[in-house]
Amino acid sequence: MTSERKWAAAQSIQDELERHGYEAVIVGGAVRDLLLGRDPGDVDVATEAEPQIVKQIFQKTADVGIEHGTVMVLHPDHPVEVTTYRTESSYSDHRRPDEVHFVKSLKEDLKRRDFTMNALAINSDGHVMDYFSGKEDIHHQIIRCVGNPEERFSEDALRMLRAVRFAAQLNFDIENETLRAIRKLAQSITFIAVERIKVELDKIFLSKYPEIGMRLLKETSLTLHFPVLNSDRVNENLQHWRHFNALGNSAYGWAFVNLISGCKRTEDLVRGYKLSNAEKRTIQAIANAVQIRQQSFWSPMNYYHFSKETIRAAEFFTSILNPSIQRMPDEILLEGYRNLPIQSRSEIVVNGNDLIGWSGQRGGPWVKQWLNRLEESIVLKEVQNDREEIRDWFQREFINK
Ligand code: ATP
Ligand code: MG
Repeated sequence: MTSERKWAAAQSIQDELERHGYEAVIVGGAVRDLLLGRDPGDVDVATEAEPQIVKQIFQKTADVGIEHGTVMVLHPDHPVEVTTYRTESSYSDHRRPDEVHFVKSLKEDLKRRDFTMNALAINSDGHVMDYFSGKEDIHHQIIRCVGNPEERFSEDALRMLRAVRFAAQLNFDIENETLRAIRKLAQSITFIAVERIKVELDKIFLSKYPEIGMRLLKETSLTLHFPVLNSDRVNENLQHWRHFNALGNSAYGWAFVNLISGCKRTEDLVRGYKLSNAEKRTIQAIANAVQIRQQSFWSPMNYYHFSKETIRAAEFFTSILNPSIQRMPDEILLEGYRNLPIQSRSEIVVNGNDLIGWSGQRGGPWVKQWLNRLEESIVLKEVQNDREEIRDWFQREFINK
């Protein structure tokens, strides 16, 4: 989905709300990204119309957070979140407001937002509403809380981590008072569910400047409250993040943390951040591949066993962690794959029954062992993947065993 189409979908919803007599704006991160010339994540709409009215105006909607005033309008091009202007009441749990109140004032709505750069709105004439000097802060590349930082972080501790995440994505500085408040309140990050923390850490891994994020996590002491990331080993090796790139896969961030921490805390990592089985497999495959690469160059069996993505990531991460090992160009790795005679066992032209027939013996555990041996011999090009050739090879080897 191109950003133009996302904008067009949001604008058509904005127009429709206005046609019905309700003020509506595009709000939040999309406006920030527009001013930065950056591709927006989502283009969100805010409106004075209450959720029930939004649902009446648009035929296709989904209730994604209606108690907080958000209705998802299912525009044929792209779903758009439409949120009623709201204020938030007291926060007794450092996570979520106890209540939300719908209001008619956009300014009131913008005031509850986390950072000045995120408290911007744009109306259908293209006019930017900027009550908290967000444009100026964007111009100076500053992340600053709307209002009093200590109050804002006490309301919702996740905002501290969001500040770090935005710094990593945008290479912005966190304004002094805002930074001081994070240092002071860092411990309250423990009120936040690990799933939400992980989302932000994933975004730091995927960001353009992960080293900024990792350094800020340490400097603010947020990291003290994060499993594995709080280890000395990780904190003494922050320089590695300077060269890190997640290659578009946040699981590689976790794999890199695992490598930096010496691969001894994989279980803590998986459990501590509730990583998925797929993420766990990625972490383990990369750890295995890096261990091999630290000893030698990739063998045909390595190409055969590991996916291209794993080899590529492991090649890259090995070169970061071991500056004496030079990173091989992608082309050489791809060549390694192209040279493989088979990609998987299913391509082998004989099966266990063939081996049994040729052996003149009964089946048994030996069949599997010999299939493994055959597979390796084909990959190593000791025998061609051809029925006759394999039969000759088998009869020769099996008798000599
Ligand atoms: P991204 O590019 O990651 O989507 P974003 O700024 O759009 O960045 P979202 O999490 O999508 O971030 O939130 C949309 C908007 O909602 C933010 O721009 C901000 O105005 C507001 N917001 C989100 N989370 C919070 C929060 N925890 N506290 C206050 N305002 C928030
Ligand atoms: Mg967003």
